[in-house]
Amino acid sequence: MAKKRVWLHPDGVARDYQREILKATRQLNKEITSAYGDIRFDGWQDDLTGIINALEAFAKRIFNPVIEKLPSFFALTSQFNDRQWRIIVKGGTGVDIPASQAAIIGLTKAPASSGVLGVDAYRAERWLAEMQANWVAQNVALINSISADQLSDMEQIVRRGVMNGSASSVIKKQITDRYSVSESRAKLIAIDQIGKANAALTQQRQKDAGVDGYIWRGVLDQRERQIHIDREGKKYKWDSPPRDGHPGQPIRCRCYAEPDFSNSVFNID
Ligand SMILES: [Zn+2]
Repeated sequence: MAKKRVWLHPDGVARDYQREILKATRQLNKEITSAYGDIRFDGWQDDLTGIINALEAFAKRIFNPVIEKLPSFFALTSQFNDRQWRIIVKGGTGVDIPASQAAIIGLTKAPASSGVLGVDAYRAERWLAEMQANWVAQNVALINSISADQLSDMEQIVRRGVMNGSASSVIKKQITDRYSVSESRAKLIAIDQIGKANAALTQQRQKDAGVDGYIWRGVLDQRERQIHIDREGKKYKWDSPPRDGHPGQPIRCRCYAEPDFSNSVFNID
């Protein structure tokens, strides 16, 4: 009997993404703190517009390196996921499948067929480039929303504060209190988006192999939500997801889909 393996989560990539996005968010917060000192309340309206514009330009510069790393974060997640998939296939069926050819950087010609997967024998994974492009676009929008939302909140705080005649110390506190909101949001984006990429890759790779269903598996730690714990060991079909999605799709979900190979190209009973 083949040995059952746990499908590991790409925690390393999630940590790297989180570190980069958090670093940029904190730099923006620091810049806002120093810009705040430039607002003179006698001519605050002109000052504020100029300062917000400067902060927008700063944010663009500071988040750009994170945006440039997005394709690589996705590629690393894909490679990690592919290794897990091959280990799980080997454990569940005894079959060695070749690595995803699309995931191998620098590959220029199609390799010889492994003769294993009838659906996609070369594992060329032609869907991978489009999945990556969509994920990157989605993440660019999320990253841009961090600074856009924060600066628009800051603008409102200052306008409201000046209109109400609030002390500048009160206004400043409201602005700095908002920093932690951006930081938690940045952390969540990184963790959640790597999880979603991982879940999408798992689903597509199983479908490529003709796997039509899976067994719900969770980490079963204290962070896992009760409704997912209740699904432990139960069978689901890929074309009929539970209400909140397949494993790994709900926010912060670390569950995974253990493939049911019975109807797959591997012909396992
Ligand atoms: Zn879960």
